[in-house]
Amino acid sequence: MTALNEGWFTEVFQDQGTAFSLQVKRKLHEEQTPFQKLEIYETETFGNLMVLDGCVMLTTRDNFLYHEMMTHPALFTHKDPKKVVIVGGGDCGTLKEVLKHPGVQEAWQVEIDERVTRMSEKYFPELCEANGDPRANFFFGDGIQWMRDIEPNSIDVLIIDSTDPVGPAEGLFALDFYRDAMLALREGGIIVQQSESPLLHTNTIIKDIHDDMHKAGFGHVQTLPFPQPVYPTGWWSCTMGSKENPLKYFREEDANNRPFVTRYYNAGVHHGALAMPQFMVDALEDEVRPEEG
Ligand code: SAM
Repeated sequence: MTALNEGWFTEVFQDQGTAFSLQVKRKLHEEQTPFQKLEIYETETFGNLMVLDGCVMLTTRDNFLYHEMMTHPALFTHKDPKKVVIVGGGDCGTLKEVLKHPGVQEAWQVEIDERVTRMSEKYFPELCEANGDPRANFFFGDGIQWMRDIEPNSIDVLIIDSTDPVGPAEGLFALDFYRDAMLALREGGIIVQQSESPLLHTNTIIKDIHDDMHKAGFGHVQTLPFPQPVYPTGWWSCTMGSKENPLKYFREEDANNRPFVTRYYNAGVHHGALAMPQFMVDALEDEVRPEEG
């Protein structure tokens, strides 16, 4: 639910009794795409704001937190990621982070709504600056079907950068999708999914993700919390699943010596994000396998 009163954009979380507001200068764009209502605002202090179906997707000012955490922990945990697929992620911010890794040879962005990407090129050009990289590939269509059709054993890292688990994204948070992902991943493969708010969703969405990833055969599952001021509660998470290897270890030396700039991610942040808060450990403890420690 959204409200726009006296120069403020407000997303109301009715069931939580809370709301989040940004002061806006003007609306830059509005359209009903075949999939969702897409709005873009210029805000007073957070740069541009993208909203899909009334839900805040990203702002210029703080998207680096989300995009870096969706990308670098998984890519520095995998031993040698060469082919990376992003499902969703139409704003291209995750793709930009993935392509910072020189070892990545091929990256795909599989986004259902081409209009999100076209409007990001216009209003978030800094996120799209790697789109011309020869390693970047774009497919506009349903990621669920794409994952059913993909060649088995062909991906190293799969990043699910989707909207909330409703509408077209619902099937991206489902056991069948994780089974397809399991088949698509090569040995040592890692899946990582945006997994909503630790405060709101640990006992529901996050627990379901852990259960379903385990059922699909991911032996190791780990949720990493991180701040995201513009999302409900200001606290967000991604959940990684690994076919074979524990997720507590990562290529720390490579993370320390990364040949690119990050604004949030570093090896210390990675370590910190692996330390799950106690209430999450308690809620998810049934899912912790002995070898995960
Ligand atoms: N950071 C955001 C968040 O957590 O709310 C997500 C940003 S990104 C814009 C999410 C994208 O997922 C949207 O552009 C949406 O069109 C796309 N999407 C939703 N369902 C999809 C599906 N089944 N296949 C491919 N893309 C999908």
